[in-house]
Amino acid sequence: MDKQYRIGIMGGTFDPIHIGHLILGERAHQQFALDKVCYMPAGNPPHKQNRTGRATDDQRVDMVKLAVADNPHFDIILDEMNADGYSYTYRTLERLREQHPENDYYFIIGADSLTDFDKWREPQRIMDNCHMVVATRNGMPPEVFDALLEKRREQFHGDFLKLDTPNLDISSHNIREMLRSGTSVKYYLPDAVIGYIRRYHIYERDS
Ligand code: ATP
Ligand code: MG
Repeated sequence: MDKQYRIGIMGGTFDPIHIGHLILGERAHQQFALDKVCYMPAGNPPHKQNRTGRATDDQRVDMVKLAVADNPHFDIILDEMNADGYSYTYRTLERLREQHPENDYYFIIGADSLTDFDKWREPQRIMDNCHMVVATRNGMPPEVFDALLEKRREQFHGDFLKLDTPNLDISSHNIREMLRSGTSVKYYLPDAVIGYIRRYHIYERDS
């Protein structure tokens, strides 16, 4: 029988990837004894590709590669980088489970994504194929966070797990604004990613 792995998956736009994403992956690796955490950038639909003030799909992939390079248990997977830009988490997870039925998948999200979760495509099919690991975000009060987790468990009979992280007040949106206004973003994202952004003059103009 194939060896069983516990795989974390962190999906996102990563425009750009920042330390919030990286801290969540590292904490999930420790708390749930994950063998690997895979960062999975989502492809942009055609009307969102090559927008002014945003990175291209290739640039977002490059930045994720740079950000995960020095961590032996981090990886990048391109399963949602489709040419047409439309990908659905339930399909990706079902495909991964088909390819590796022996593995256990832990999908990592922030609490804002948990709030929206019932609007995702086929949330039940997502929960049939993974554990959901959720980090607090946007200063959500602990009792509100706990109640939302419980509500989602009842709705989907799924395994919603709380990731033990502090509130990390950082977002790609904020970072794009800081870059546009010339505010230093040092320590908000890895130096290699900052170097890449400067080299290719990404996020310098209004989107
Ligand atoms: P944007 O501001 O453009 O929406 P973002 O910072 O939210 O970007 P995404 O790529 O949209 O980054 O996020 C991918 C996943 O990471 C989502 O599930 C999101 O909830 C989570 N996430 C991102 N930043 C944080 C953070 N600071 N704390 C907790 N979760 C986060
Ligand atoms: Mg977001």
